Amino acid sequence: MVIVLGVESTAHTFGVGIVKNGKVIANKRDMYTTERGGIIPMDSAKHHREVCENIYLEALKEAEISEIKIDAIAFSQGPGLPPCLIEGMKFAKNLSKKLGKPIVPVNHCVAHLEIGRITGSKDPVLLYCSGANTQVISYAAGKYRIFGETLDMGVGNFIDNFARYANLGFPGGPKIEKFARDGKNYIELPYSVKGMDVSFSGILTNLKQKLEKKEGSLEDLSFSMEETVFAMLLETAERALAHLEKKELLLGGGVACNSRLQDMAKRMCEERGAKSFCPEKSLLVDNGAMIAYLGEIMFKSGIKFSGKKAQDLDIKPRQRTDEVEVSWKD
Ligand code: AMP
Ligand code: MG
Repeated sequence: MVIVLGVESTAHTFGVGIVKNGKVIANKRDMYTTERGGIIPMDSAKHHREVCENIYLEALKEAEISEIKIDAIAFSQGPGLPPCLIEGMKFAKNLSKKLGKPIVPVNHCVAHLEIGRITGSKDPVLLYCSGANTQVISYAAGKYRIFGETLDMGVGNFIDNFARYANLGFPGGPKIEKFARDGKNYIELPYSVKGMDVSFSGILTNLKQKLEKKEGSLEDLSFSMEETVFAMLLETAERALAHLEKKELLLGGGVACNSRLQDMAKRMCEERGAKSFCPEKSLLVDNGAMIAYLGEIMFKSGIKFSGKKAQDLDIKPRQRTDEVEVSWKD
């Protein structure tokens, strides 16, 4: 029996998850939010520092285990905001020292993909739509590869930026989704797919101008934004499915909480005889359980760092998905 604890701290969320033999037995998190304005990395890191101990204790309580039962500590090594990553790593190192247990460094994006196994997906194309990241990722020829991605900002940051302009706080996504539901008129926006990549900055400027000039209500603009941008994302994901001849689409990242995106993903998959998977919300957003889940798989394959080697580990703020050395898959 193996019990792995996972620490997530790449951006706004500090999370601790515990996995026992592939089963999530705890998943606790706390998110840094603002009334107005976006994430300030140092403030988010401070938030993580303040909540970490409590979240850890809550996770142990939820799992109904004592900390001495933990076999390994996994943490999000990257990509992410350096001050935030450092807090998670420090927490993992201290715990490793205290318990005398090894550390497993985990790539955050790959964790979003692998947690999909819990929903039944086996070899998916992941449409990863989070705040900072927007990528189409899949495992092919020995590596997790990026088949398409944003050329400028992540789709979540794009939505948050639009929301901020409309004087809504962070995170803006859920609020914009509510406005979009009341939208009735489609207002034409730029559609920006370049090969397998997408970009959002032109659409953002256009949306801001339209909002400023009152060329559409916030409801109609939110609705039109969702229709346009989600179609762009699914177009690239569909091309990846076709190219790789894969039959499973997996959604990941906070933007995938959006029910319109989920519906559109389902529709696209149905039309091409594929299946769409979407983890429950607590596993979709940034969370410690997915870090523990991938951590356990890696730990079982022998990836672990102890003693000085554990304390010498560093964060990888810009780690690319395809740089991850994969030795745990067959
Ligand atoms: P993550 O970085 O994966 O934790 O995701 C956070 C991002 O998801 C933020 O940019 C949120 O605004 C966005 N988000 C959360 N819920 C929704 C939603 N229902 N619709 C659109 N975006 C959302
Ligand atoms: Mg994420």
